[in-house]
Amino acid sequence: MTASATQIAADVRARRVSAAQVCRDALARIDAANPRLNAFLQVFHDRALEQARAIDARMARGEDPGPLAGVPVALKDNICLEWGRTTAGSRMLENYESPFSATAARRLIDAGAVIVGKTNLDEFGMGSSGENSAFGPTRNPHDESRVPGGSSSGSAAAVAAGLVPVALGSDTGGSIRQPAGWCGIVGVKPTYGRVSRYGLIAYASSLDQIGVLAGMVDDAALALSVIAGPDPLDATSARRELEEFTHDPSTPPPSLVIGVPRQARAASHHAAVTAALDSAINAYKVVGARIVDVDLPHTDHALAAYYLVAAAEASSNLARYDGIRYGRRSSPAREGEAGEVPESSRAEGGLLDLYCRSRSEGLGPEVQRRIMLGTYALSAGYYDAYYLTALRARRLVKTDFDAAWAAGCHALLLPTSPGPAFRLGERADPIAMYLEDVYTVGVNLAGLPAVALPGGRAGEAGSRLPVGLQLVGPAWQESSLLRAARLLEAANPVPRTATSAPASS
Ligand code: GLN
Repeated sequence: MTASATQIAADVRARRVSAAQVCRDALARIDAANPRLNAFLQVFHDRALEQARAIDARMARGEDPGPLAGVPVALKDNICLEWGRTTAGSRMLENYESPFSATAARRLIDAGAVIVGKTNLDEFGMGSSGENSAFGPTRNPHDESRVPGGSSSGSAAAVAAGLVPVALGSDTGGSIRQPAGWCGIVGVKPTYGRVSRYGLIAYASSLDQIGVLAGMVDDAALALSVIAGPDPLDATSARRELEEFTHDPSTPPPSLVIGVPRQARAASHHAAVTAALDSAINAYKVVGARIVDVDLPHTDHALAAYYLVAAAEASSNLARYDGIRYGRRSSPAREGEAGEVPESSRAEGGLLDLYCRSRSEGLGPEVQRRIMLGTYALSAGYYDAYYLTALRARRLVKTDFDAAWAAGCHALLLPTSPGPAFRLGERADPIAMYLEDVYTVGVNLAGLPAVALPGGRAGEAGSRLPVGLQLVGPAWQESSLLRAARLLEAANPVPRTATSAPASS
């Protein structure tokens, strides 16, 4: 297991260790583990060492390289970086080289972080397991026959395996929190607008938010404080003052009211999920928090509304990948090679034929399914029945949360998923896969911040799979939410099992 980001930055800044050494260790761990895990799509061996040496040179000159000095960080591969490729896990962007870096990536680099590589993901962020990547699935470091969750599959696996202390992910409907839960780590989905989306490859723009995966709450808070804040390049980034995300651990926590939604206890849950919830409730009681019952009556509608809104926005956002303006262009059709292009389009020849071929070859089946569903829901005659109805449901989901805040809750405690990670290939039915997201999507529909953290373990010794919990807070309350998460992390420690990473040298 790697040292924490907080520790690495402190050691590098105190010159107890060089950034170059930290970087070489991280690269060695990645090289050893990645052939099994497939967590990284690219590793920047030379570039990362160059960055690390530059940090050391700044230290030697007496400069402070910043709060993440020498910390190795991985980026989900839908976050643009001006070197390497940014694939979004898709054949469509297999060779895409971004001319610019995402604001979040730029801020990490400016704070002294070393970008060691780009991590695997479900294509364009569409998936809950990591299996929808065009570049093969990522494996869960706790049990390599299982999925790590998705869509930030590689970022979660990389942190859980101890390859890097911190990675960036994106969360449109749970893609940071759900894999964090299944990999036994911490994941922070900030309030919509807290972190700039400039340079994040769009999936569903009213839901997408960049956030952090880390081994512990403090590291996630540290990274969040670096990437958060207004950005003139993203009109949806909020012009709000940043609060303190990294608290002095000696400050006593304020009196906390934690709401536990009735819906958090479904009979269909895995027993370990209920046990994790009970254990967290007890831990909170022991440290003096008040636990109250709340109701989120539109939880089931959230799932339907999410999959409608997300698909509608995706169909619009992904229209640009036509092989002409953006994305992989199919080579001209040869005689007898019409492939999957429908007869009607082939007859058109030329442009339409090229669009069809490029999109059929470049986009995977789940992405195609969402584009078709979204296009249908937005089309004349269906728009009111589907899209507008989904927007109304979205509003109701938000009022559920608002009622909990009005009743005095500082945060709500929920599972991240109904059970632990499943085996690769086990959820072939798309609907069964979507159902895994029942506890995460409402947060995105309402634009709220949430922190996922380890809740417990499922199974007997030998298959101790992580089970995750999440704390959801009112908009812009990341600071008190992280404090509540830190409190739970300390009061309800979940033993970390050995991961597949070799020990750090
Ligand atoms: N699993 C959800 C989906 O497939 C959420 C993905 C995400 O947050 N990017 O849409």
